[in-house]
Amino acid sequence: MKVLSIGIHPDDADFGTGGLLLVHARSGNETVILDLTEGELSTNGTVEERREEAQRSAHVLGISARINCRLPDCGINRCNTEQLACLVRHLRKIRPDILLVPYWVDDHPDHVEGSYLMMRARYTAGLVNFLPGDEPYRVPVLLFYPCRRTFTPTFVADVTGVYEDKERSVLCFESQVGRSSGHRVTHLNSPLFLERLGARARSFGALIGVERGEGYLATEPLPLDVRGWLFPAGEGM
Ligand SMILES: [Zn+2]
Repeated sequence: MKVLSIGIHPDDADFGTGGLLLVHARSGNETVILDLTEGELSTNGTVEERREEAQRSAHVLGISARINCRLPDCGINRCNTEQLACLVRHLRKIRPDILLVPYWVDDHPDHVEGSYLMMRARYTAGLVNFLPGDEPYRVPVLLFYPCRRTFTPTFVADVTGVYEDKERSVLCFESQVGRSSGHRVTHLNSPLFLERLGARARSFGALIGVERGEGYLATEPLPLDVRGWLFPAGEGM
């Protein structure tokens, strides 16, 4: 079992899917993060700082591999064929069983474009005549995770037992969630950010009667027996 989580910037996957990645990693499954950009236009933090933070968080989450596509920040475009080809190549190489993608409704245009670009890439990777020569592959399960905007989830993963470690991974992104002098104020470094993330985990968790959850949205029917292995039981169950 291999799970691939897509981040548009080098913290999205950690904030949105860190709990599920931890649960899978601890169940012996392979987890990979593919970040589309290096976040070079971020309000706070340099590219170098963000690279280092992303690696530290990957270590906390027990990620097998973390790859950055180095697509342009604020330049993700669902119609760009070069960007599509880059993602198709990665999907065919990684060949995950489950693909986690940011929800397409969001404030940040890159999150919106990146979500649609991934949907395109997931389908296109299965077309034998697109970049012929590479072995085609279509990821069987596609799930969306929330960034700024949320949804009523199709699935909730119980992340109760790993939530402390998820928070540790979030705190690795000091340039984004920290408030060192010189940092401009953003929604990420608001004193309320961690509380809001925790409140969302409480809210999703309440839907399935556990302490903390991560919500995921499916837009296509999934075989019933898939549910058993989508979310291995967390330590809190
Ligand atoms: Zn982002």
